[in-house]
Amino acid sequence: MSRRVNVLIVGGGIIGTSIAWSLARRGVNEVTVVDLDLAGVYASSELNAGGARATWWQPVNIESCRATLDFFVEHQQQFGFRPLG
Ligand SMILES: Cc1cc2nc3c(=O)[nH]c(=O)nc-3n(C[C@H](O)[C@H](O)[C@H](O)COP(=O)(O)OP(=O)(O)OC[C@H]3O[C@@H](n4cnc5c(N)ncnc54)[C@H](O)[C@@H]3O)c2cc1C
Repeated sequence: MSRRVNVLIVGGGIIGTSIAWSLARRGVNEVTVVDLDLAGVYASSELNAGGARATWWQPVNIESCRATLDFFVEHQQQFGFRPLG
C-alpha cells in the first residue's frame, strides 16, 4: 500500500510533534507523524524530568525557551504544567 502526504515527520517526540503542530497552525494540511515506539518507552520526551528553564548563554536559546514557557503557561490545562520556581 502506498500513500502520498505533503509532509512526513519521522519521530513523534517533542520536536516532531512541535513541528507538526506549528505546520498545522500555519495551514499546512496532510502532515503525517510516524513513530516506531508508540508506547513511548525509549523517547526522551517521555523519559525526561520535566524541568524547563530560560537561563542559557546564547540569546536565541533564551528567547526560544521563554517562548516555550509562555506556551506552556498558555496551555497549562492540556499539559498539566505546574510552574514551581
Ligand atoms: C532521563 C532524561 C531526562 C531529561 N530531563 C530533561 C529535563 O528535565 N528538561 C529538558 O529540557 N530536557 C530533558 N531531557 C532532554 C529532552 O527530553 C530531550 O532533549 C527531548 O525530549 C528530545 O526530543 P526529541 O523529539 O528530539 O527526541 P525524542 O523524544 O527521543 O523523540 C524521537 C522519536 O523518534 C522516534 N524514532 C526514532 N527513530 C525512528 C525511526 N527510524 N522511525 C520512526 N520513529 C523513530 C522515537 O521512537 C522517538 O519517539 C531529558 C532526557 C532524558 C533521557
